[in-house]
Amino acid sequence: MIKILIQIFLFYILYRIIKEMLFGDEKPKKKIFREKEPEAEAFTPKEPPRAREELVQDPECGVYVPKNSSISSGGDYFCSPECLEAHKKKGQRS
Ligand SMILES: [Zn+2]
Repeated sequence: MIKILIQIFLFYILYRIIKEMLFGDEKPKKKIFREKEPEAEAFTPKEPPRAREELVQDPECGVYVPKNSSISSGGDYFCSPECLEAHKKKGQRS
């Protein structure tokens, strides 16, 4: 009998672990609403994390990319060679 009880207990623990893995996200959310602490974190990312790097806008896709890692061509900065090629093709058409 004791073995069966231990097995049931182990299954219960397993069940709880699986349940926490599946539904574990719901519980902390309720805590967040109660504590209201993470709101400060939500407001902090006003400034980009890499404020030192100058951001330039890709005229093709509108994405802001750090100037250092962008591809410059004719005064424009592109996030990828694909955007550069696409922009060149557009310029040729018009
Ligand atoms: Zn782009």
